[in-house]
Amino acid sequence: MSTTEPVLTIRALNVDYGTGDEAVRALRDVDLTLHRGEVLGLAGESGSGKSTLAYAVTRLLQPPGVITGGDVHYHRRDGSALDLLALSPAGLRAFRWQELSIVFQGAMNSLNPVHTVRSQLTDVLRAHRPEMKRAERTARAQELLQLVGISADRLHAYPHQLSGGMRQRVMIAMALALDPEIVVMDEPTTALDVVMQRQILRRLVALREELGFSVVFITHDISLLVEFSDRIAIMYGGRIVEEAAAQEIYRDPRHPYSEGLLRSFPALHGPRRELTGIAGSPPHLAAMPAGCAFHPRCGRALDACATRVPELAPPDGAEGRTVACWLHRPAPVPAARP
Ligand code: SF4
Repeated sequence: MSTTEPVLTIRALNVDYGTGDEAVRALRDVDLTLHRGEVLGLAGESGSGKSTLAYAVTRLLQPPGVITGGDVHYHRRDGSALDLLALSPAGLRAFRWQELSIVFQGAMNSLNPVHTVRSQLTDVLRAHRPEMKRAERTARAQELLQLVGISADRLHAYPHQLSGGMRQRVMIAMALALDPEIVVMDEPTTALDVVMQRQILRRLVALREELGFSVVFITHDISLLVEFSDRIAIMYGGRIVEEAAAQEIYRDPRHPYSEGLLRSFPALHGPRRELTGIAGSPPHLAAMPAGCAFHPRCGRALDACATRVPELAPPDGAEGRTVACWLHRPAPVPAARP
């Protein structure tokens, strides 16, 4: 069950790819809070910055990616906070898996084909819980498989003996092995069919209720997020452009880009609606438009949109949600384009 207590806070996070004149801006002024027990969805097209955000927060960003500013703090249950951007390599090793684990895109293909599921699950336990006896590790591996809906007798199977959905569940079991507080899932079910995707996500949400961890769930498929997230943050051009409760985004999206995303995916539930997509393509990081990065594709752009970046703020005094769009800023409203 989600709470209002923060478990991860991200403030004014900036990431560049490259340095000096060659640098391109991948993330700009990202502010985001993950609450304990919540599923926070991150949506946006390819290149919007959502995976870069996950890699930066988990300190897995590879060169030429550089964090150029901002703060990321992990908040423990005892009230203390850990500055993730200041962690030493040893501190990071202890933090990952124990406090935060990650399931990457196509993770099911990263299982080692020549080792059994048992050996790969118990490896994580051996590395991080050296005090556990062999029998305890095996019992925990069985328990983890059952948690994700796989019979314990598949412990001795090799990856090629499992379906894609089962391999992905094994990766989720591995991510839960040390009872982390946060699980980051980067397009975890993209390679699976729509029925299997939903089965896995339903199981994950049920486990979240049972075990109390928080989830950052990244996908370009906003209809999945609406179904499985508590809150959704929409990214475009390296910035968060809207953030609200999942149902509010679904019922009443305020940013024209959020509206376009919702019109790009069929919803499995509710009334049918026409799929119209979004005209044009996402901007290249090296040629980001001035002002609101969405203005070349926005059918409602105003004059100010081409020159001034709208700040992320509550729309027209509404509470509990934010949007970065000139249509929702109080007066003076920039003049409409002729
Ligand atoms: Fe469209 Fe302007 Fe809003 Fe950007 S700020 S989404 S261009 S109306």
